[in-house]
Amino acid sequence: MSAEKLNRGFWWVIIATVIGLGQTPVHASCFGSRIALDAGHSLQRPGARSARGRPEVAFNLMLAQVVATTLRAQGDEVVLVNPEGTVLNLVARTRQAQAAGADLFLSLHHDSVQPRYLQPWQPQPGHTEHYSDRFTGFSLFVSAQQADPKHVAASRALAMQLGAALRAAGLTPSLHHAEPIPGEGRILLDADWGVYRFDELIVLKTATMPAVLLEAGILVNRAEEERLRDPTYQQRIATAIGQALHRDCTDPHND
Ligand SMILES: [Zn+2]
Repeated sequence: MSAEKLNRGFWWVIIATVIGLGQTPVHASCFGSRIALDAGHSLQRPGARSARGRPEVAFNLMLAQVVATTLRAQGDEVVLVNPEGTVLNLVARTRQAQAAGADLFLSLHHDSVQPRYLQPWQPQPGHTEHYSDRFTGFSLFVSAQQADPKHVAASRALAMQLGAALRAAGLTPSLHHAEPIPGEGRILLDADWGVYRFDELIVLKTATMPAVLLEAGILVNRAEEERLRDPTYQQRIATAIGQALHRDCTDPHND
C-alpha cells in the first residue's frame, strides 16, 4: 500500500471516530454506574405513619433492597446507605456516598399529607389510625443549593428521567406538594414527571454528586399503602428506576 493510501486511511479512521463520538448512544447512562441508595429515616426516627400504623422506614428499607437487587442484576454497583435503619445523621449519609465514590445519590422515601387532610378510622376494631385517600402517586425532589451547578443540572435531568420511567411503568405523580398551604407550596418543576424543587433537603444539598429524593407513594392513602407493600409493585418501581438510570441525559419530553 502506498504512503498516500495509508495516509488517506488514517484520516478516515479519525473522521469516523469523531462522528461516532458525536452521537449520543441511546442506552448508555450519563449518570454513572455506582449508585448510592439511601433508605430514608431510621428505626429511631421512623418518618411518616401509614394508614394502618406502619412506620415509613420499614417501607424505605424494603424498597431499597428491591432496587439494590435490580440494579446489581443489570451490572450497576450499589452502595447501600442505611440498610439496617441505624443511621441517624443525614450528612453522614451523603458523606458515606462520597467516600464510596458514588456517581449519584438516590434517597428512597414514602410520603404523607398535611394533617388537615387526615381522618380517623379503625383498621382493626378498637384501634384508631389516620388516613387520607385524597392524594395518590410519587413525587421527586431536587435541590438547587448543591455546591456544584453541574450537579444541580444533572440532578434535575435524573429526576425527569425517573419521573418519565415511573409514568411509563403506570404510576402517576402526585402534585399535592405544590398546594399553597402551610407545609407545602413547593416549586413544581415538572407536573408531567412529578418533579419538585426543595432546596433545603439536607441529603440533597449536601450531596457531592447528582442527587434525587423519591417519595415512592403515599402511605396514608389506604389503597396505596397496600400497593406499596406488594412485591410486584415494588419490583415495578425498581425496574423503572433501573431503566431511568440507563437512559441518556436528554429531556424525556423530547424522546
Ligand atoms: Zn420520608
